[in-house]
Amino acid sequence: SATSLQDIVGHAKEYGFVFPSSEIYDGLQAVYDYGQNGVELKNNLKAAWWKAMTQLHDNIVGIDAAIFMHPLTWKASGHVDGFNDPMIDNKDSKKRYRADQLLEGKAEQYEKDGEPEKAKALLAEMGRLLSAEDLNGVRDLIIAEGIKCQVSGTSNWTEVRQFNLMFSTQVGSVAEDANMIYLRPETAQGIFVNFLNVQKSGRMKVPFGIAQIGKAFRNEIVARQFIFRMREFEQMEMQFFVRPGTEEEWYNKWKEARLKFHKAIGLPAEKLKYHDHEKLAHYAKAAVDIEFEFPFGFREIEGIHSRSDFDLRNHQELSKKKQQYFDADLDENGKPYGNYIPYVVETSVGADRLFLATFCNAYTVESVGEGDAAKERTFLKLHPALAPFKAAVLPLVKKDGLAEKAQALANSLKSSFRTVYDDNAAIGKRYTRQDLIGTPFCIVVDYQTMEDETVTIRHRDSMEQERVHISELKEKIGYQVAI
Ligand code: ATP
Repeated sequence: SATSLQDIVGHAKEYGFVFPSSEIYDGLQAVYDYGQNGVELKNNLKAAWWKAMTQLHDNIVGIDAAIFMHPLTWKASGHVDGFNDPMIDNKDSKKRYRADQLLEGKAEQYEKDGEPEKAKALLAEMGRLLSAEDLNGVRDLIIAEGIKCQVSGTSNWTEVRQFNLMFSTQVGSVAEDANMIYLRPETAQGIFVNFLNVQKSGRMKVPFGIAQIGKAFRNEIVARQFIFRMREFEQMEMQFFVRPGTEEEWYNKWKEARLKFHKAIGLPAEKLKYHDHEKLAHYAKAAVDIEFEFPFGFREIEGIHSRSDFDLRNHQELSKKKQQYFDADLDENGKPYGNYIPYVVETSVGADRLFLATFCNAYTVESVGEGDAAKERTFLKLHPALAPFKAAVLPLVKKDGLAEKAQALANSLKSSFRTVYDDNAAIGKRYTRQDLIGTPFCIVVDYQTMEDETVTIRHRDSMEQERVHISELKEKIGYQVAI
């Protein structure tokens, strides 16, 4: 049977991956905590991204900017005026919706009913109305499409209003407007305002990139679907600065490179696809999403955006500081390209969404055995590089020195990769424990080990066992846990 989001949420909680925030107080909507296994998986995802971006590219460096930024940053970026979601309330149920999500839901319904043309036309019309900021038109469209509230079943809608997604707070003790600052709604701006600092101190030459991983905050109107849409989440963004006129080439390169990354960490090609935007964000010249097939359908995990010089130009205007780069390379006439504000192609992926995609994809239930002995086995088919533990060392029994031998082996492996020792319960039970958290290799110390220094490796996915010498373990497992 197909995996439901409930299966995922349940497994994530039961095995220490994701907990609702402040659960003892009944939780806080759209906020989640990562548990002892979740933090490892998430860190491994972030490390894979960081490596793919900075270690594998000579011309990309990382930074770690603060969450708080000067308030003018968000004026320049367009977030104060334009970072809105259109919201609509149902007058009977008082339930609040995102107007665009109601229409997208309807379009999805058309798709399911085998009417893709209708779906396309609806999305196009929605994109047109939103771009023109025709909010009455959006409401009329919702009514014309016969969209009803899921709770009240009526279509008694209020007008559509723009709702700014930024959280604000005060600095210092005086609650005056001038002291109001925002929690960053994206990490990108920390990169833009440091563009020249990095370029100069690192003697970077265009084209070059700056990468960053960090928290971002959005007051999402409707927060559903577990960690897919959170109010506090983590982004992994890379801004790539290019010479104007070359942006299309780089946009296409990054579009391809990012899809490759998702495949490399184990997301299957058939569950990934591109989705071109109907409606462009306020900063974008071209934008494509990489979508993953979640249990609730294909949804965005990453955006690749061609942002022109929108951000740097606006920062130059508001800060009155030149955001120019001098390009000494020669053009076709043999003259230096000279001063210009670079164009930007960005890649932006949510660490939490990537976590959810990876987790959903790894969650596997299969039947093993036959007849009366048939049962279900649940395991996480995680890429070894992402698994919280790479190996578990298990003594077959606790007596006759096997436990001590296994403990010593676990200790010797720890510094090479994350290893857990477990001697509690029957061996089958201990395999299951590791399957449930996705440990790819179980190393068993048995009586033969005491004689010839060999152990068995039991492989998570195939459940097959092989006998190897202890001295081979580090290399054998080590090379499989890198991406
Ligand atoms: P959506 O349309 O789903 O609201 P978006 O297009 O606003 O997303 P971007 O602003 O392009 O998203 O952000 C880049 C990435 O950040 C997204 O692809 C997603 O992975 C992640 N992201 C954005 N908002 C959230 C959120 N509320 N919770 C978790 N991740 C998010």
